[in-house]
Amino acid sequence: MTRLLSAAAPADIEAVAALLQDGGIAALPTETVYGLAGDALNPTAVQAIYAAKGRPADNPLIVHIAGPDDLSALARKIPSAARLLAERFWPGPLSIVFPRQPHVPDVVTAGLDTVAVRVPAHPAFLDVLRAGGRPLAAPSANRAGSPSSTTAAHVLHDLDGLIPAVLDGGPCTVGVESTVIDLTNKPCLLRPGGVPLEALREVLGEIAVHPAVSGELAANAQPGAPGMKYRHYSPTANVIVVDGDVQHAAEYLGWVGTGESAVLCPAEEAACFSGQRVVTYGSLTDPATLARGLFDALRTLDTPDVTHIYARCPLDETGISRAVRNRLLKAAAFQTVTV
Ligand code: AMP
Ligand code: MG
Repeated sequence: MTRLLSAAAPADIEAVAALLQDGGIAALPTETVYGLAGDALNPTAVQAIYAAKGRPADNPLIVHIAGPDDLSALARKIPSAARLLAERFWPGPLSIVFPRQPHVPDVVTAGLDTVAVRVPAHPAFLDVLRAGGRPLAAPSANRAGSPSSTTAAHVLHDLDGLIPAVLDGGPCTVGVESTVIDLTNKPCLLRPGGVPLEALREVLGEIAVHPAVSGELAANAQPGAPGMKYRHYSPTANVIVVDGDVQHAAEYLGWVGTGESAVLCPAEEAACFSGQRVVTYGSLTDPATLARGLFDALRTLDTPDVTHIYARCPLDETGISRAVRNRLLKAAAFQTVTV
């Protein structure tokens, strides 16, 4: 059994900090999604994270620190661009990839010479970091490949009995993972996320976008962010992204839809799919709500009677919509239909 603790209770925060200091692991709320945390400098703790998640060993973890002052203990060759980004976006949903310090364990970085670091913007997570005084490795707190967890209930659904504790801090406010930017060479976006690319470009100017962000990696390509090569964020059903006009999409689904299919769409489009099983995930007029609702909706549709999920998402690649679309494309293993 996994202990359910409360982020509002100081004694529970202390209990989690003590557990982590002892080399244990625990799920903690962040502003993005729940993280499964362990002492980043303790290979046994980090190994336990991989084991609980069933995460492939070649998919590196993001290391969380309490503030920029803790960065130089993990990272080398910190460019001025990183200082500028940290000043503007930390604490917040931005992970930055640096050359790593030699004592960062191989298991954290999946053997890479680089390490991804961020300062999370969640008071409970920051309290735990400050109490422990150690950096915490924390991937999303879900079984590998499943949609990320945005509530403590999601964490328990996936990991009950596999981890000692989850600290309940309520639903995550951002709802998709951090943006990952590689600053080891020319700035390159490895994963869209909570901080929009446009906001990063305001600070740094030109930023390349890794090809894996919008299309599937060629089977033999070397991924810049190793997690990119996996089908990800997926329920057991087959996810298909349906692009194009909503009326055409409704006609298309009237044609292909069977008893085992469901539609995942923004609230505005629900009425167009009458007669279909529909789950909505936020509103097109406020894309932040799409991000916040996406993983919960995917989990709602993760039932044995749903074999196909036809997903609608914004086509526009601006702001947080870029991350929403990326997560759905990855859940769909880039299967799209344009109607
Ligand atoms: P998760 O914590 O589950 O959101 O996954 C973390 C993701 O961050 C990985 O799948 C990688 O895509 C990325 N990442 C972590 N460390 C590195 C690194 N050293 N270099 C490039 N990408 C990284
Ligand atoms: Mg993850």
